[in-house]
Amino acid sequence: MMGTKTDHRLRVIEGRPWKEALICALAPDAPHRPWHGVGAVEPGDAVLVVIDTDPPTLLCGFIQGSDPVRRAIAKISRFGRTGLQTVAELETAAGEHRLFDGLRLDSPAASALLAAATGRSRSQPHDRVGDSSVAAARILLQSGGRCGCCREAIDLAGSAPAELGLHLVPDNAFQQGQDWPALLCLTCQAGMEHGEFGSVIDYAYSLRPACPECSARRSRSITYGKLTPDWYANQPPWQTDGGCVEDSSARWMCAECGCNWGPSTESNAFADDPRRYEVARKLFGAWTGVTNPELLAALWKNLNTADLNHWLQRAGRESDPRNDGHTPNTF
Ligand SMILES: [Zn+2]
Ligand SMILES: [Zn+2]
Repeated sequence: MMGTKTDHRLRVIEGRPWKEALICALAPDAPHRPWHGVGAVEPGDAVLVVIDTDPPTLLCGFIQGSDPVRRAIAKISRFGRTGLQTVAELETAAGEHRLFDGLRLDSPAASALLAAATGRSRSQPHDRVGDSSVAAARILLQSGGRCGCCREAIDLAGSAPAELGLHLVPDNAFQQGQDWPALLCLTCQAGMEHGEFGSVIDYAYSLRPACPECSARRSRSITYGKLTPDWYANQPPWQTDGGCVEDSSARWMCAECGCNWGPSTESNAFADDPRRYEVARKLFGAWTGVTNPELLAALWKNLNTADLNHWLQRAGRESDPRNDGHTPNTF
């Protein structure tokens, strides 16, 4: 290598086909080769990942640094669940700038595109409705690789892309509260088929106890503790939150008559420990790979509220002895 590289560029990686791309983003050991254009990426380049949904979408902001691209994409897609905005939405947000490969990083166009791409949009249930590949891709990404119904981890790396249980929901069924878009595990797919359930909502309720007061099959599970804005934005109808109450709290709430019952078996309120902030900062530091303390402090300071909450929640999770590293229902 001669001299120091000063000419950093914005590179565009393509992810196709879209299902393989998102599987690899969530499970980097999956045996697919969905990333195209990776060869041109050099350390110091920023990368935008375009997925070939119809219309094309942008996977996850930008990657910078020397991680292998495959790992780096997986790392970033774990960091919150973005709304998987379309390329057209990105270009609108970036002003007149169009996405193209090889833009110099110090150009106004590259800055505008990166700023628009990293102004992360939260995934919302109504963005995952309809039968387009964009809706399906958003369901897959937002799932984080867990079943939207029972929250079991799905072996994405070992799943055939065509057989993923992507349950798509038409707009009117969603608006009327009849169905819910979700990625389903094999057990839940079989359960729906066997019980002849057309709706994930009806199936999820069928797995819950009937109300002891009115016998309705509309029991919502209650989750306690500090929950992220993502949790609130994405909680399905069969879940609700119970605030930060510890112990002796109800486990179920009937959506028909409103009665509460059952001892809570999974109080997951996080101790409000001042050390948690420090743990969060350390986790964030390790994730970025940045060693310069001033740069790291600046990056930490610039986190938006949603991202800060993400790291605080992770810190709470990792220091909570009742947890095994996963908090079901977080995303
Ligand atoms: Zn399931
Ligand atoms: Zn009831």
